[in-house]
Amino acid sequence: MPEIDLHTHSTASDGSYSPEELVTAAKNSGLSAIALTDHDTLNGLDRAARTALDVGIEFIPGCELTVTHGALRFHLVALWLPLNAVDIQNALDEIIRHRNERNHIIIGKLNDLGIGITYEDVLAKAGDGAVGRPHFAAALLEKGVVTSAQEAFDRYLGSTGKAYEPKKVLTAAHALDLLQRHGATPVLAHPYQIGLGKDELASLILELKEMGLDAIEAYYSEHSPSQTRSFLELAKRLDLGVSGGSDFHGPIKPDIKLGTGRGRLDIPYAVLEDLKKRRLNRGQPTETSPTVLF
Ligand code: AMP
Ligand code: ZN
Ligand code: FE
Ligand code: FE
Repeated sequence: MPEIDLHTHSTASDGSYSPEELVTAAKNSGLSAIALTDHDTLNGLDRAARTALDVGIEFIPGCELTVTHGALRFHLVALWLPLNAVDIQNALDEIIRHRNERNHIIIGKLNDLGIGITYEDVLAKAGDGAVGRPHFAAALLEKGVVTSAQEAFDRYLGSTGKAYEPKKVLTAAHALDLLQRHGATPVLAHPYQIGLGKDELASLILELKEMGLDAIEAYYSEHSPSQTRSFLELAKRLDLGVSGGSDFHGPIKPDIKLGTGRGRLDIPYAVLEDLKKRRLNRGQPTETSPTVLF
């Protein structure tokens, strides 16, 4: 039985569950702690934190950021993110502005391909959350342009798709500096996705560590047991912490379950304890005080 899940999404970005539903589901599935890590937004965090207090589960506020580093593009998960830091909020506002510009470019590209989709169709799928490619996939599916979300990514939205448009993002150096200055714990998300060999990945991670990276997401839904073992070893060798999460999005990504991922994810509470120890060693708080959140 998994005990924690430190990578999840809600309707504040491209998940299907509201922050309240997500935290309640985490409690009901027997988890002791959950982090909410929506893409580029803090909007769901106070509602999730209130629900966590109500239902009695430990909550860690976070978010997920896409960053570039040279030719590479990958994701960071930030944990223990402060909600009242003006320059983090400003950076996120700027990212959301770029995201919206990019969404209109994608609409234009789809229209040029003869697909009659409007921004309103996509907005209808996003509700009041930050609009992202999964919402485009849902709209394309509803219009019958594709028969699955995966086909939408393969043919149109993914990095080799015909309507692909990268979003402008922070550099890893900028993001890590910002997160460290505000006392967050920056984690390299799903390292397998970077697609580097063992040695190249190790030297990238060492470089990122010098810029402020604190942990690697060794436990992840798409990691095989041997990948997990190898990321755990790498973290130990580089004196980095370890994190883990399912990347749960709800029914919009039906194969991934909260806590258990594809069925065999099993993240022990000790993972969270070790991350907290690293924070305590640096004099950083490990409790998310309600006064910080509300
Ligand atoms: P965005 O933030 O708009 O770039 O969208 C990111 C979301 O799209 C994440 O939830 C990803 O899991 C999802 N995504 C990105 N690439 C793919 C892909 N090739 N197939 C399926 N989902 C993807
Ligand atoms: Zn997502
Ligand atoms: Fe990600
Ligand atoms: Fe994610």
